[in-house]
Amino acid sequence: MTTYNFCAGPAMLPVEVMQQAQEELINWHGRGCSIMEMSHRGKDFMQVAAQAEQDLRDLLSIPANYKVLFMHGGGRGQFSAVPLNLAKTGVSADYIVSGAWSKAAVEEAEKFTALKAQTIQFKQDGLRTLVPASDWQLNDNASFVHFCPNETVDGMEFIDLPSTKAPLVADLSSTILSRQIDVSRYGVIYAGAQKNIGPSGLTLAIVREDLLPAKGSSIPSVLDYRLAADNDSMFNTPPTYAWYLAGLVFQWLKRQGGVEAMQQRNALKAQTLYGYIDQSDFYRNDVAPQFRSSMNVPFLLADETLNDLFVNEAEANGLLALKGHRMVGGMRASIYNAMPLEGVQTLVTFMKEFERVHG
Ligand code: PMP
Repeated sequence: MTTYNFCAGPAMLPVEVMQQAQEELINWHGRGCSIMEMSHRGKDFMQVAAQAEQDLRDLLSIPANYKVLFMHGGGRGQFSAVPLNLAKTGVSADYIVSGAWSKAAVEEAEKFTALKAQTIQFKQDGLRTLVPASDWQLNDNASFVHFCPNETVDGMEFIDLPSTKAPLVADLSSTILSRQIDVSRYGVIYAGAQKNIGPSGLTLAIVREDLLPAKGSSIPSVLDYRLAADNDSMFNTPPTYAWYLAGLVFQWLKRQGGVEAMQQRNALKAQTLYGYIDQSDFYRNDVAPQFRSSMNVPFLLADETLNDLFVNEAEANGLLALKGHRMVGGMRASIYNAMPLEGVQTLVTFMKEFERVHG
């Protein structure tokens, strides 16, 4: 039985990538040891690292005046790193709260900077919706504006960027590489790796050079963008195996036709799933259509007492990790880049059958 893993993260990786990693695991390129056993400063790993960076730069068309940092600490590490690196003394930051993760970012940032948080999620006609970016109240002089365009828990996504003179800082943990973006519009982009990039343990930060802090600041060293940039992300030992695997994923993405091709494929996957949910009285999604995430699809059963049965039967049919986040309930299907269209089609077939039997 083919299994499909709908986990929100750590999420499934492309099968081809896993197979390549397996083949290379013990004896990388005939060197007699694993890439994970090599010095991060050795010629071999340095080459793997540089190639991964170049491939990411190609995939996202990252301009030359941006540093790509391969860091530790996950998305939450960046919740601290962003204010520590970017907040200016006596100046507040603007934080947009669209859901659970951007709220968590505020709670962390408050330790390090004055900020103004603005909640943009609300309910209208029974649906969860968002205030569009054009209506956010922003201060052009803020040290930065932080937002999360794809809320993994809430299943909500927005595309439009705000217009402000303050640098835009975006948590792209659950959407990076799933659709095209214009990096030059952002000051900082960051993402934990464990959804669209590779295994957990690696965190990407893409930072416009003029936003790097001054040398010799009092920022904790492992979160200091300047130190990371000046040391090619090797100030301390980086998560080398995760970095290598991310590199394999970037090469796989290139073979798939790059981010543009992924965007089309992801749109089709999302349409397939939401389309089925919308025509059914048995399932529902309560997000306003223009703000539905194409990566994380939460859905509810009309009869919530069937939730556990749904999850268990799905699992018995090879459809893994569909239980919704505890804050939202119901189900959630995360359909990142590595999820093939067939995975979504198989899920829809299962949902139809479950509806037929229990509806
Ligand atoms: N931001 C977003 C959008 C996330 O989805 C997550 C994790 N699911 C985080 C931040 C936190 O990431 P981490 O667990 O890597 O700290």
